[in-house]
Amino acid sequence: MFNLKEKLIHALPVQVVDTLLFCSECAAEFNVNIYLVGGVVRDLLLGRDILDIDITVEGDAVEFSEFLIQKDSGIKLSRVQNDLKTSKLLFKNGIEIDFASTRTESYPVKGHLPVVDSIGVRIDEDVRRRDFTVNALVLSLNQSNYGELLDFVDGVSDLEKRVLRVLHEGSFVDDPSRIIRGLKFSVRLGFNLEEKTFALQEDYLSKLSNFDISYSRVKSELMQTFSLNVPDAFDKFIEQRLYRLIINNFDFYINSDIIKNLVDKYKPQSVWLVYAGCFLVLGENRFDLNKREKKILFEVKKFLVNNPPYDNFSVYKFYEDALTESILIYYIITKSQSALHYLDDLRNVRLSVSGEDLIAAGVKPSLEFKKILDTLLEEKLSGSLLTREDELKFLKFQIKQLKK
Ligand code: ATP
Ligand code: MG
Repeated sequence: MFNLKEKLIHALPVQVVDTLLFCSECAAEFNVNIYLVGGVVRDLLLGRDILDIDITVEGDAVEFSEFLIQKDSGIKLSRVQNDLKTSKLLFKNGIEIDFASTRTESYPVKGHLPVVDSIGVRIDEDVRRRDFTVNALVLSLNQSNYGELLDFVDGVSDLEKRVLRVLHEGSFVDDPSRIIRGLKFSVRLGFNLEEKTFALQEDYLSKLSNFDISYSRVKSELMQTFSLNVPDAFDKFIEQRLYRLIINNFDFYINSDIIKNLVDKYKPQSVWLVYAGCFLVLGENRFDLNKREKKILFEVKKFLVNNPPYDNFSVYKFYEDALTESILIYYIITKSQSALHYLDDLRNVRLSVSGEDLIAAGVKPSLEFKKILDTLLEEKLSGSLLTREDELKFLKFQIKQLKK
């Protein structure tokens, strides 16, 4: 097998390299094996940037963390989860590392979250619970073979072929969020699903008849995928009928480049929702949405049951106070030009006169206020009131009319 020690030294910042060596020495002293597993090994082999470091402990990661703290009191325990035996440590040099215990899992209810069967299993057993072979590669941090790549699942060959292969036939049935993970990695790494894996995905999606799955992971993966703002992810989501995870049918044609252009131009806060919005609005929402996300879907649904606006004033009133995402999703579904007209030309139109000007002009605060200001706004949106003076003149004219 390859030894990646040199690669490790070159790809990682010196503080990380030092911290890994320190962990390695401590592991030898504590008599436990530790490894890098998953994304970090994959990205190291692909020469991609490594964003976070996770260490897998062949044993109890919490006990090992306590040992590390004993060895160096400058290390802080930032998080510990005792049921899963995971922890997060903050080292003196500012490096944060997650420690997980090796484990096996099973899925008593298919499609729902797994239960942990055993903790502290052999590393070659741990990798079997993972999603794709390229995410199941292991790199030893042990003194006897530091940097050695351990490949129990033929991941290197799949990495060379640039394919994503599940580890067993029931993988998607166990955890359908892996389908969205497959989409995420395929667009991020430019990989394809291996033939058999693709067939398993097709089979799973064609047989899916109810929506009795846990959506927390599906949502999280879809958020990460669509946040990439890559049109190809949206196209594949439709072509491969991945939408069937959340909605039975989707017959619309939507040009994904248009979505990307909208995102680039209007910079919505929830990029993922601009991509996912049409599925969530046209189907039933199965995700646990936060308050803002719920508001967006509510606004789009409200737009859809009303007639589209026509003149500037009704366009303004139609979209007034709506979040950018709502307006974009509505545009994506209906292509109503009014949505872009509002964002481009009307959204920032504001009256320069206010209630105070009305009071100064002798109008008593009343329901009449809003009516007068709306009439003023309507006139301004038609383009005839350019300055504050124009507005004040029109205001006085309005008041005169009212007094007649
Ligand atoms: P990223 O660069 O996005 O962090 P990653 O491969 O590190 O990619 P994570 O989501 O951080 O992905 O997960 C870490 C590892 O945990 C994965 O490499 C994979 O081995 C495993 N994993 C994560 N999610 C699942 C899942 N749903 N099913 C099986 N294994 C998973
Ligand atoms: Mg990761």
